[in-house]
Amino acid sequence: MTTESMLENARVNFDRAAATLGGVFDEALLRKLRFPKERSELRLSPQLSDGNIHVFTAYIVQHNNSLGPCKGGIRMSAAVTLDDITALAMEMTWKCALIGVPFGGGKSGIAADPRQLSPNDKQTLIRSFTRNAQRHINPLVYIPAPDMGTNEQDMGYIKDTIAYSEGHATTQGCYVTGKPVILGGIPGRGKATGRGVAIASEAAMAHIGADLKGAQVIVQGFGNVGAVSCSELAARGAKIVGVADITEAVYDERGLDVARLMAHARSTGSLKGCGQGRTVSPEGLLEMPCTLLVPAAAGNQITAANASRIQARIVAEGANGPTTPDADLILHKRNIFVIPDILCNAGGVFVSYLEYTQETQQEQMTEDVVDARLEKRMRDKFKLVISTAEKRKLSTRDAAMHLALESVCSASVARGNLP
Ligand code: NAD
Repeated sequence: MTTESMLENARVNFDRAAATLGGVFDEALLRKLRFPKERSELRLSPQLSDGNIHVFTAYIVQHNNSLGPCKGGIRMSAAVTLDDITALAMEMTWKCALIGVPFGGGKSGIAADPRQLSPNDKQTLIRSFTRNAQRHINPLVYIPAPDMGTNEQDMGYIKDTIAYSEGHATTQGCYVTGKPVILGGIPGRGKATGRGVAIASEAAMAHIGADLKGAQVIVQGFGNVGAVSCSELAARGAKIVGVADITEAVYDERGLDVARLMAHARSTGSLKGCGQGRTVSPEGLLEMPCTLLVPAAAGNQITAANASRIQARIVAEGANGPTTPDADLILHKRNIFVIPDILCNAGGVFVSYLEYTQETQQEQMTEDVVDARLEKRMRDKFKLVISTAEKRKLSTRDAAMHLALESVCSASVARGNLP
């Protein structure tokens, strides 16, 4: 991992797309989009199970709400910064616009290492975040969801904390997505991001004239996105030859048993000691032979330092910002097909939108309906990005950014200017 700034990278991607839009939109409007609408820093001080008060910093960023209320997950990581959250909120603006849901871009972060917290202490911290952030969290303002370090259970605590604080059994409208189905979550949300990655990867393989069946795949990250990407890709016939999480990286060209890896990770909490393949270095894994590489962990993993050694024909960005702009140019020159993050991992936010509409309208959607709508949306948007890239002679990332920017700018123009 490099120390390159995620925010700087997000701005470079934005600037590159804005510069090639061809003067369709007002310069001042584009300049405005380089910056977030609002950034807040909160201090949380929950009393944890050791009896002491612990102080944590949390961040909430609304980047742009031209298309609707800001949407974006809560990242819990010791290393998270306000600038990282700003970059991720900016990416959410483009992702929501590209995948075609009426949301703007937001994100929040809690600077804490979830692995150092007991389940009870993590619950207390999430509830403390919710109490302190409550004036920001609202179906018409900002709707959080899981991201790195947070999960479905945490979203259940958020809904409960808000309902409790209002003296109600439940909340009216959707305050948070990705929550347990029993609490108004939607079937299929937990797997939606990873499933979307698999659908986009299958479409990309067909686009380059390759078959996903039997193709060698490496997945970095074995959490919500990585583990589901593995199982969804394996279900489509791919051979998972390499996986990594923060504790372990393994590779076996003959293929790994994904069901066993998942069972191991479920029972022990990580891939450590999974007993499959040979152990390789986490950085080295990205450079091992494969057709499809799925970075589904942290940002800035494919950089100018390793991009020339990537052997994959396709990089499917399950993570947010896994490729730095310099690396992007190298991959483009080497004719490696990149499915940009704002398309590749947009399945989660698309299904979050279905959860939002389900809760707002107080109806219930079945998993079959959710899966079918996700499949169609991912395929339609994949085709649109490809045809835009071909028509405008752009990289897939720039084409996706063009489409997103056009949508956000059009909404902004349609709303007019507020004083
Ligand atoms: P998670 O916390 O469930 O899992 C993260 C995984 O990455 C873990 O297995 C962790 O051990 C591993 N990891 C972290 N750093 C690593 C490193 N340096 N090398 C190897 N493995 C490492 O998080 P997640 O929800 O799966 O999110 C992963 C990525 O996908 C993030 O970039 C996130 O922003 C993005 N994303 C998530 C969603 C979602 O719905 N959860 C949606 C869109 C994008």
